[in-house]
Amino acid sequence: MNRSKNITHLQNESFDVLVIGGGVTGAGIALDAASRGLKTALVEKEDFASGTSSRSTKLVHGGLRYLKQFEIGLVMEVGRERAIVHRNAPHLVIPEKMLMPIIKDGTYGMLASNMGLAIYDLLAGVRKQDRRSMLKQKKALTYEPLLNSSTLKGAGLYSEYRTDDARLTIELIKTATRYGATCANYCTMIDFVYGQNRMNGIKCKDEIRGDSFIVKAKTVINASGPWVDDIRRINGSLTRKQLHLTKGVHLVVDHQKLPVRQSVYFDVPDGRMIFAIPRGNKTYFGTTDTDYSGDKNDVRTSKLDAEYLIHSINQTFPSVNLSFEDIESSWAGLRPLIHQEGRSASEISRKDEVFVAADGLISIAGGKLTGYRVMAKKAVDLALKGLRGTGAQGHKDMKCVTREIRLSENPLKNEEEVLRYTQQVADRLSKLGMGMSHAEYLVSNYGTATDEILEMIPNYEDGDVSKALIRAELKYCADNEMITNLVDFFDRRTGRLSFDIESVMKYQKSILQDLSNLMKWTPAILALEQDRLKKKIQSVTVFS
Ligand code: FAD
Repeated sequence: MNRSKNITHLQNESFDVLVIGGGVTGAGIALDAASRGLKTALVEKEDFASGTSSRSTKLVHGGLRYLKQFEIGLVMEVGRERAIVHRNAPHLVIPEKMLMPIIKDGTYGMLASNMGLAIYDLLAGVRKQDRRSMLKQKKALTYEPLLNSSTLKGAGLYSEYRTDDARLTIELIKTATRYGATCANYCTMIDFVYGQNRMNGIKCKDEIRGDSFIVKAKTVINASGPWVDDIRRINGSLTRKQLHLTKGVHLVVDHQKLPVRQSVYFDVPDGRMIFAIPRGNKTYFGTTDTDYSGDKNDVRTSKLDAEYLIHSINQTFPSVNLSFEDIESSWAGLRPLIHQEGRSASEISRKDEVFVAADGLISIAGGKLTGYRVMAKKAVDLALKGLRGTGAQGHKDMKCVTREIRLSENPLKNEEEVLRYTQQVADRLSKLGMGMSHAEYLVSNYGTATDEILEMIPNYEDGDVSKALIRAELKYCADNEMITNLVDFFDRRTGRLSFDIESVMKYQKSILQDLSNLMKWTPAILALEQDRLKKKIQSVTVFS
């Protein structure tokens, strides 16, 4: 994960598979290809996970609402993937019970909800002990007292998993790297390169140094999410099947302002469904789903989006009375869906689709974070067909092996180990005056690499232990996770921009100075980076 070494490698080597896009789809493809023994490269135009893969609802879920659209295949595929992703990254993909209130005059009654949840469990192959249960009104209120008792009839309680989308992507990139893939962020694909009548690489721009170079590759896979059609436009392969982008927004408030005891998935009068999810000492909720045709590189929460979500929360939890002033942070992302004529934003299928162009370019879009592994398998299986006769040589049978690959260097085996390890971390932290919430944060972010961070804390002790911790995290991320600026660190690596914006405000100066020392920035670059963070903070806190 050394960026400058990787760039040199990209320039000097020739690859079997080259992936454009470092979101969860591209990262999953890089891991799949590298673990089959193929020489693999990945380029990302900004930071890893800076596109949709850091702006989702952060659930590894089967998509209960797709049952309503009879997307049986999709629910079954992603539903079953949940358990695999959980097994391979138990520190990062954590079981979460979801409460689905059933209200008078709501979309579904008790009977229909019970049937729907039973089918959902069946399709996803959920273990007996984790299957849904139906709660009467009184019991449902003990799970979530904030619900409106005058309209509540009961609730369904079912199993999902929560995660951190950006951390999942980073772990995939790191794991792919351990399998030999060469990955670089801030490297934009700007053109294709051809030889002997076939595509044999891409031209890239290094966004940090400013120069361009060629990366040679036998097969190129376009996994650029919302930008998939832009890339297809470059080689003239954009056909009638095109993307349909829809925007989704989430807001974050202090947990005390929306003190839900657990995750709730509720319907709102316009027929949509919204999640409210507690995380640390915050609660986040979303999402919206509206057609989008603006700037893909600057997707923001509008005042209208925020009003819609706040109104939905206040209707469902009447004692809460959230207002605009309560919003601490937000994020907005684009769903790269495949256009379906006559269908509205919420009705369009979330299924993935693969396109193969005449010159061999493979493009993949649609799908879910949860289904990244199967999407990657499909893309690499296709790439293998194109690689026949090119001399590309992977492992013996080149079968997909990602089902068994753990997404951590020293993985924790299962939930029990995660709990035990978290307790050990909490015990160590208590000696420094920090509690369980810090332990949970560190373990879900870094897994057992938390040890490395804890060992560095004494190097930064100056009487403020929270500051020492964040500085140790910075050092770990700079050494191991290819950060190049403050936003990479505060947004994609630590999630602090969304879930602990106070710490960003409080420690930004000290982190800026540390990163500047590590990167050997000139005063001019330092000023630019400070400005970059300022603009980012503004974009997630100010709505127009
Ligand atoms: P992206 O993450 O956008 O990655 C594409 C990458 O390509 C970007 O990082 C971009 O910078 C890069 N790129 C573009 N052009 C170039 C170029 N020329 N050169 C190099 N790189 C380039 N799914 C779930 O399973 N669970 C959920 O809870 C969930 N919630 C969601 C909520 C919302 C609001 C949204 C919008 C989506 C949600 N999804 C969820 C879907 C999921 O987030 C997406 O399917 C997934 O993140 C898409 O990943 P991707 O890698 O295809 O795209």
